[in-house]
Amino acid sequence: MASLGIPKNTIEILQKYNFRFQKKFGQNFLIDTHVLDKIIKEAGITEEDMVLEIGPGIGTMTQYLCENARTVVAVEIDEALIPILKETLSGYSNVSVLNEDILKVDINRLVEEKNNGNPIKVVANLPYYITTPIIMGLFESKVPLESITIMVQKEVADRMKAGPGTKDYGALSLAVQYYARPEIVAIVPPNCFMPRPNVSSAVIRLSRYQTPPVTVNNEELLFKIIRASFNQRRKTLMNSLNNASGLSYTKEQIGEALAKTGQKESVRGEALTLEQFAKLADELNQL
Ligand code: SAM
Repeated sequence: MASLGIPKNTIEILQKYNFRFQKKFGQNFLIDTHVLDKIIKEAGITEEDMVLEIGPGIGTMTQYLCENARTVVAVEIDEALIPILKETLSGYSNVSVLNEDILKVDINRLVEEKNNGNPIKVVANLPYYITTPIIMGLFESKVPLESITIMVQKEVADRMKAGPGTKDYGALSLAVQYYARPEIVAIVPPNCFMPRPNVSSAVIRLSRYQTPPVTVNNEELLFKIIRASFNQRRKTLMNSLNNASGLSYTKEQIGEALAKTGQKESVRGEALTLEQFAKLADELNQL
């Protein structure tokens, strides 16, 4: 089948099936073969790999994945795309398409069934409206992962990569960087998609750490503290933690923990590194 990365071929198949784009599903299909080549290269797909693709659309990237991987599982929510995928992927025997909402799929079970529980690679041009729940879901449910190579809004990629003291730094940066090493590998302008999105996009590769770069006694508490710290960015860390609904520390306790970790009472969350948050979490966990 001719590449769907060529706009003429995408238009042809969309017309054949009288496909209507659904905004609510974040449908912007890739129509640029250079970007597709780049994603496959940066994802480092080999013929041993199981790849999970989230939102295959009409199968544009799926075709590339099938050419390079051992097996591909593609999860697509829009049932109108299923007959199209049947046609565009008919030349491949190493792909299964599931008509499901990715947020409801038991990915751990899929990995067990299709890859003996060994780490998989996730590749996707994500539906932007659920980027964060998808990524955090993959990490938090401990899916065996080697890497996640995804197209996201450029602004979201910047936030995932940001460090302390920058405007983009926040709970998403820390959560992603606890689990993985982020690298932005391509910037993709709106004209590479049909229909064109309003914003620029970026391909970011998240290489999963075998063990997190910091150790912490209570992971759940660490993330509660991180979220609380950035809920009210302009407040001091002390006030944010003291006001947080899921935490019940007094100002004195927080002040003591901050002092023990060498932080001033006036510090804001945005100034702390992941390591400093982990130390603070360990101090508060002892109380
Ligand atoms: N991979 C295709 C490409 O690059 O041309 C399509 C990418 S498009 C940005 C996102 C795709 O994700 C759409 O096909 C959309 O229907 C699908 N999608 C949206 N929400 C989803 C969900 N919750 N679960 C699975 N797929 C979803």
